[in-house]
Amino acid sequence: MSVRFVIDPLDFVRKTEVHHGRIPLAEFSRLQDFLYENHGDVVYQVSGFLDQDDKPRLRMKITGEAQLCCQRCLGGLAHSIDIDTSLLLAKTERELILADEDNSVDVILATAEINVVDLIEEEIILSLSISIRHSEGKCDVHQSKYYDPDPAEIANPKNPFAVLSALKKKSH
Ligand SMILES: [Zn+2]
Repeated sequence: MSVRFVIDPLDFVRKTEVHHGRIPLAEFSRLQDFLYENHGDVVYQVSGFLDQDDKPRLRMKITGEAQLCCQRCLGGLAHSIDIDTSLLLAKTERELILADEDNSVDVILATAEINVVDLIEEEIILSLSISIRHSEGKCDVHQSKYYDPDPAEIANPKNPFAVLSALKKKSH
């Protein structure tokens, strides 16, 4: 069973509605690729308001804990989701294009029906860093056969005997 929560965003703003809830991580289909395991859930709050320029906006607050998949060792990597963003609602395609030129503004087209769950998933994916991985030297190398050794470590082996055995192999 998948969660669906559809709003008319402009109507939502007009009524200055606030909606909050909890969504299991397992419900986000596109997010699964980034997860090591999908236990747990996120808490969200969506509110509609007019900004100082009288432009309609949706404020999204999303928090939770997720176990991401490290791209280097494929092990689990604890990550805190903590998003607080506000999306400008463009009423027309033209408004969307104009607002989109300003990189500091997050803008979406205010279609009559917006699935807030999709929007939340989108924001979570956008918030993840491009390279999700443990910090240097923190990967569990024994956990995965896909471990990709750091090229700097091969060039500079810490173990002098490794160099020695490499030299010995060459001489034969
Ligand atoms: Zn790792």
